[in-house]
Amino acid sequence: MQLIMLGTGASQVTEYYNTCFVLKEQDQYLLTDSGGGNTLLAQMKHAGINWLDIKDIFITHQHLDHLGGLIWLLPLYCTALRKGLLQAPIRIFAHAELAHTIDMIAHAILGEMQIGYYENGIDLITVEDGHKLYLLGQELVCVDLHAKGVPMFGYRLSLGGGRSLGCLADEPLYEECVERFKGVTYLMHEAFCLQAEEQRFNPHHRHHSTVKDACENARRCQAQTLILYHTEDSHEKERSALFQNEARQYFPGQVLVPDDLEVLELT
Ligand SMILES: [Zn+2]
Repeated sequence: MQLIMLGTGASQVTEYYNTCFVLKEQDQYLLTDSGGGNTLLAQMKHAGINWLDIKDIFITHQHLDHLGGLIWLLPLYCTALRKGLLQAPIRIFAHAELAHTIDMIAHAILGEMQIGYYENGIDLITVEDGHKLYLLGQELVCVDLHAKGVPMFGYRLSLGGGRSLGCLADEPLYEECVERFKGVTYLMHEAFCLQAEEQRFNPHHRHHSTVKDACENARRCQAQTLILYHTEDSHEKERSALFQNEARQYFPGQVLVPDDLEVLELT
């Protein structure tokens, strides 16, 4: 399976796109979050992904840097359904409150020509904690992340052979969820900034982590490989080296800090 990072930045970055990514297994795709705007379309193009191939989308929470790209995809899907370029259904997975928000947005932005295609061709599927989905040929278990801000869901996706990927969306791993991610092969954890720059960026006030925090959480759930994302952008191309250098002090396993459009092979 491939993990294609479309964006790796936090909400107000300019040097990266907002955090969102595609998981790809042969001809099956799962988009997780959508970033904040129509740069989603550019990032998919640059990644060599035809948006018509994306038929499953998981949105973690309602913040605009995760939800905003969907606003641009919805009318495109409706038009493609109308022209017969796409077979229904498109499936959007979201927790109940978020599904309601998405439905309201859809009704606000879609035109008369489009709304019927939305209602008949796009399935808004409400997920609950522990809900098991079958996506990418694997089992995906939805996890309520007990976020301190808005309600937020992540997931644990099987990669086969006892291996798995844990996605923690946009907040740290909290105590209530440690068991749910125990022993994951890959843990995707947000890391707003270096611990060394905690005073400068104040991540904890926004329910975000430093690299050190993310490393300690990865140790608590015995993750093998830690993938850091959703970061500030002041270091641009040096981010990976700086974050990995700090991470080495706190986490014994592999730490990856992908750039936008980087492709990771989940072997
Ligand atoms: Zn965010």
